[in-house]
Amino acid sequence: MTEAFRAEVRDWLAAHVPATPLPSLDTADGFEAHRAWERALAAAGLAVVTWPAAYGGRDATLAEWLVFEEEYYAAGAPARVGQNGLFLLAPTLFACGSAEQRDRILPRMAAADDIWAQAWSEPEAGSDLAALRSRAVRGGGGWLVSGSKTWCSRAAFADRAFGLFRTDPAAARHQGLSYLLFSLRAPGVTVRPIRQLGGRTGFAEIFLDEVFVPDSDVVGEPGDGWRIAMSTASHERGLSLRSPGRFLAAAERLVSLWRRSGGDPGLGERVADAWIGARAYQLHTHATAARLAAGGTLGPEASMGKVFWSELDLALHEVALDLLGPRAEVRDGPDGVWLEDYLFALAGPIYAGTNEIQRTLIGERVLGLPR
Ligand SMILES: Cc1cc2nc3c(=O)[nH]c(=O)nc-3n(C[C@H](O)[C@H](O)[C@H](O)COP(=O)(O)OP(=O)(O)OC[C@H]3O[C@@H](n4cnc5c(N)ncnc54)[C@H](O)[C@@H]3O)c2cc1C
Repeated sequence: MTEAFRAEVRDWLAAHVPATPLPSLDTADGFEAHRAWERALAAAGLAVVTWPAAYGGRDATLAEWLVFEEEYYAAGAPARVGQNGLFLLAPTLFACGSAEQRDRILPRMAAADDIWAQAWSEPEAGSDLAALRSRAVRGGGGWLVSGSKTWCSRAAFADRAFGLFRTDPAAARHQGLSYLLFSLRAPGVTVRPIRQLGGRTGFAEIFLDEVFVPDSDVVGEPGDGWRIAMSTASHERGLSLRSPGRFLAAAERLVSLWRRSGGDPGLGERVADAWIGARAYQLHTHATAARLAAGGTLGPEASMGKVFWSELDLALHEVALDLLGPRAEVRDGPDGVWLEDYLFALAGPIYAGTNEIQRTLIGERVLGLPR
């Protein structure tokens, strides 16, 4: 079954992946071009393969999803503009949302009618997320949300956002938080783009001034936001956000680049290390998928994967730039993608929880070391 699925995915991608890369999804035009691509994937039944058929999926197993991802990246298919919704919010709704929320939200997400941003970080609350101060108070028959969020990927052009807000200021820090959904076009919302290292502005700050959120857009119970956010975070660090397919494809491209560049033996060892790292992450992830399929859970070990892939991605791109030498700086040339992707790889040890924080989690919760 998995190999038949692999062949189906490979054939479809071979026939449909745009011959010329789409413009960056961190531009207005690129964002809409990527939305159109998501719609094509959805029409082919390939947007959300692990979801139930009722929501646009095809009930694929995790092992099949890993195969899908391998083929997707090997084919050089466009980045997933809907990733925050597809890979972070959707698993959270499956685990903690209501049936009404799933019915209302997931089909529109699968069809890219709503593209979601993650509105968690605040100027004074990044690693220490529980320090967040944006608040929601009862009003108008629902909640009125005020405050500011920052570093929100895709938010400059996205439609909706999921965020954490303080609903009970008297409660202890990790309690009294609620997980709310809101439209980025609602009255009272101001989105201010942030220029990134690569010069584009897909990132944004979000300012909220008494934005109305109905009770139907609270995920789980009010006050239970921290527990639900940790469910999202384990998907972000663990399996769904960065699948091995991405690194396997980059490692194959790196080996080709090394060959094309004359096979410098001085850099060969680092190329081999990157390739082996990508394979090791693939095998580790397949083992995790098998453990989950057998009824296991994704616990704090998710942090180990996050540290591993983010450091692998950096090392892989650093050796590519070393292979290219001065050519690496020609951003518009055929190898310009390496510099572009390197700039993004620099962020890997920061987003989805910094690697320093992950190492603390590994020490305390996986290895059982004292605090
Ligand atoms: C590319 C990118 C995309 C992002 N996308 C989103 C998004 O879509 N939505 C969103 O909400 N956020 C997003 N973020 C924000 C990201 O989650 C935060 O940047 C991250 O959690 C770190 O928070 P901070 O930037 O406030 O740094 P800080 O928390 O201020 O940390 C600064 C430094 O101090 C270290 N540090 C802090 N506390 C400790 C500690 N207890 N022990 C050891 N070291 C510590 C950190 O590791 C880091 O090196 C994104 C960030 C990046 C770079």
